[in-house]
Amino acid sequence: MKTQILESTSENIKKAAEIIKKGGLVAFPTETVYGLGADAMDPEAVKKIYEAKGRPSDNPTIVHIGRASDIGQLTRMLSPGIVNLIENFWPGPLTLVVNKKPKVPDVTTGGLGTVAVRMPDHPVALELIRNAGCPIAAPSANISGKPSPTTAEHVIDDLDGKVDAILVGGMCRVGIESTVLDMTEEKPVILRPGIITADDIEAALNKDVSVDKVVLQKTSDGQGNEENAPKAPGMKYKHYAPDAQMLVVEGQREKVKSEINRLKDLNEKMGNKVGVMLFEEKAFIEAAHDFFAELRELDRQGVDIILAGALSATDGVGFAVMNRMMKSAGYNIVKV
Ligand code: AMP
Ligand code: MG
Repeated sequence: MKTQILESTSENIKKAAEIIKKGGLVAFPTETVYGLGADAMDPEAVKKIYEAKGRPSDNPTIVHIGRASDIGQLTRMLSPGIVNLIENFWPGPLTLVVNKKPKVPDVTTGGLGTVAVRMPDHPVALELIRNAGCPIAAPSANISGKPSPTTAEHVIDDLDGKVDAILVGGMCRVGIESTVLDMTEEKPVILRPGIITADDIEAALNKDVSVDKVVLQKTSDGQGNEENAPKAPGMKYKHYAPDAQMLVVEGQREKVKSEINRLKDLNEKMGNKVGVMLFEEKAFIEAAHDFFAELRELDRQGVDIILAGALSATDGVGFAVMNRMMKSAGYNIVKV
């Protein structure tokens, strides 16, 4: 397939919207990461997303809408809590899991009775969705298992020849995927952490929010074969993995730095090319912005081993980055 690489002009966004309407695939920028979109209500179109990404079919997509009120096309019941979150955080990087209307295709929700919805805070994404005139199902626009794409180049590297078009925008502002919040039970549960934190949501709802306990745990062998299944199906698969072997070094900052230096020397003596990933202390927003891009850059440089310093955070944005870092490293960790 020939992939059209399109600058995000109004004319090109219209062209991309026509592709979506005809059941094709378009990758586009959002404020979190690039998404790979298809008409969420067209099962044949959504099936192509899974094929292009090599994504397991039980891993549901997030449905993106261009106006908050369009959530009514996807779900019947809007509790006061849901309305409150929409008013506070949309457009923005908060995905709400709600009960789905029967007309939302099973392939869009991985066979679940619920649907994940968000309104992105990005002018190109919003214009695309509004022009297409349908909700757009869009997981991240990478090959399944690889680091999420935060630039158009990342998308081209993974999906050129596999999708109809790629809308080129700048680097994504947030850099990690949206917070996924389950709103189907009495108590809201964070299924995937992001830059909208439990504290932010608690402040808006004036209610306790919990974090799915499996978020920072190793839950499977990568094939989804473990008892401790997370509620967000996507959280159980091998994720964000660079080509290099990756090790996370955790502990007090100075010790982490000296252990990374020691391991770097040792590995270089053995002929390995080593990359180091060490973020500024407490600069969590910047770490989120740069995390996936740095992983891809180290792979591009052909390093054999990535030594990453853990962020010291048990909640908030730092925690969201650590969730990705642990998965990238396949939970390969040393404590110092
Ligand atoms: P991605 O689109 O690649 O950012 O992945 C979407 C994430 O949202 C995955 O972790 C999915 O498992 C999760 N997700 C999507 N729909 C649902 C749903 N209905 N219930 C729970 N998690 C969901
Ligand atoms: Mg993804």
